[in-house]
Amino acid sequence: MKKNVLCLLFLAATVHFAQDHSLEASPENLKQTVEYLASPELTGRLAGSEGYNIASEFAAGKMKDYGLLPLFDDGYFQRFNLESNKINSASLLITTQAGKVKSYNVGDGFVCRGFTGRGKVEGETVFAGYGISMPESGYDDYSGLDVKGKIVIIFKYNPAWSIEGIKFPPGTPRQKSKTANAKGALGIIMVSLPNDKNPQKTIGSVMAGEGEQLIDFPQIHADIDLVNDLLEGCGYDLKTLQTIIDSTKKPFPVGLQSRAMINVDSEYFPDALSQNIAGMIRGNDPILQNQYIILGAHLDHVGKQGDIYFPGANDNASGSAALLEAAKILSGNKSLKRSVIFVLFTAEESGLFGSDYFAAHLPVDTSSIVAMINMDCIGHGDSLQIGGGKSSNGLWSVISKLDSESDNIMVSSTWAGGGADSEPFFRAGLPTAYFVTTKSYTHLHCLTDTPETLNYDLLSRITSLAARTVQHLAAASSLPVLKTGGSR
Ligand SMILES: [Zn+2]
Repeated sequence: MKKNVLCLLFLAATVHFAQDHSLEASPENLKQTVEYLASPELTGRLAGSEGYNIASEFAAGKMKDYGLLPLFDDGYFQRFNLESNKINSASLLITTQAGKVKSYNVGDGFVCRGFTGRGKVEGETVFAGYGISMPESGYDDYSGLDVKGKIVIIFKYNPAWSIEGIKFPPGTPRQKSKTANAKGALGIIMVSLPNDKNPQKTIGSVMAGEGEQLIDFPQIHADIDLVNDLLEGCGYDLKTLQTIIDSTKKPFPVGLQSRAMINVDSEYFPDALSQNIAGMIRGNDPILQNQYIILGAHLDHVGKQGDIYFPGANDNASGSAALLEAAKILSGNKSLKRSVIFVLFTAEESGLFGSDYFAAHLPVDTSSIVAMINMDCIGHGDSLQIGGGKSSNGLWSVISKLDSESDNIMVSSTWAGGGADSEPFFRAGLPTAYFVTTKSYTHLHCLTDTPETLNYDLLSRITSLAARTVQHLAAASSLPVLKTGGSR
C-alpha cells in the first residue's frame, strides 16, 4: 500500500513536471541567441543592412529547423523596400571661444542621427532653442539670428509647453533639420533637454520622421557637456537657456563664438530591400486551424556608425530570441488546434514599418486572427508588464491567470491601446498584448545595451509565459471575448 502511494505520488509528480517542462524555455538557448544577434558580426541589425540580412537568414534557418511552415509563397521572407542610411565614419572637432580645441570620434561625446546627411562642414555655432521658426505666429527661435554658413545647436525635442493659438511643427529630426537647412545652416547639433529629470543620453536612433533626406546636411546628437563647452563665454549654460525659454515661453537665440567641424561619410539608399521573417505551425483541428494566433517581435536595431555598433541585446535581441525559443518549444506540440504564426519584424526602429507592412499584407484574413502578442525589450529589468490590457482585457486576463498559476512575474499595471509592433494590429481591431519588462530602458539605444546586462532567468520565464499563452489560445475549444473595453 505504502509502495503504491509512493508510486502514485511519483507518477503524479512526473506527469506534472512533464507538462510544465514541455513549455519551459531554456535560459542557455536564449543567451546563445542574444549573444549571436548582438555580436559585432551583425553590426546592430539595421534594416536594409547586411547585418540585418544575416540575422534574417539565421532566424529563417531556425524556423526551418523547428519545422515551421514558410508563411509566404516563396518562403519565410516578406520583402519590401524602405530607406536605409549607412554611416561609414563620423568625427567632430570643436573650438571653444577661448580657443580650446577638442576632437571627438563617433560614440564619444556625440553620435550621428540615423538619417544624417554626409559631408565635411565647418563654421561658427549658433544656439536656436527648440529650432522652431513660425514668425507668422509670433514664435521664432531663429529671430534675429544669422545662421548662414553656420552650425546650429538646438534642443532635440519640442517644448513640453504650448502657446495658445500656435501649433508647433512635429519636432522630428528631419523637420528641425529642414528648418535649419532652409535658413542656410551647414549642419545641426541636437542636444537633450538638460532640465529633464534624467536627461536623455546620446542615443543611436533611426527615427527621422517624415520628409526628404537632406543628403548633404550632417545631423548629430551631442552630449550636454560638449554643448556647454560650445556655449562657454556666452554667459549662459544650457540649463539656464532652457530655463529662460521655458519660463517665458519666448525664444532666446544666442550667437556664439565657438566653432564646430562635423565630418560624416554616409550613403543613403532610398529603396533598400528588407524583410519580415515568418513561419507557421498549422493547427491540427480541421476547422479551428483556420484561426491564427500571431506571436511577434522586431529583429532590427539601429545599426553601426563608423567603428561603433549598437548591440541591441535587450532591444530587441531579447524578444527575437524569445520568439525563436517559443517556436522551438511549441513545434511538435500536439495540443494546438489553431494555427500559430511566428513573425520577426524589420524596421521597428525607424517607425514600425515592418509590422505596418505585415498587418497591411496579411497572408490570412484579418478576421481569422484571434490575437497578436508582441515582445519588445524583455531581457533587462525585474518584472513583466503587459500593455494593451485596458483594451484587450480578456486577453490580458488569460495571460494574468496563466502567470499566477506559474511564475508570478507580471505586474498589474497596464494601458489602453497597442504600442510598438502591436500597434498596427490594434488599429486593425485585433486583441493585442505587448510584453515588456519594467525598468527595461536603462540602456535603451546605448552602446551599453549588451548581453551581459540581461537577466536570462527572467527572459526565460517570460518566454515560457508567452509560449503557455500561445498554447492556451491555440488549444482551447472555445475562447472568451479577448478584446473588451478601451478605445475601439
Ligand atoms: Zn528600439
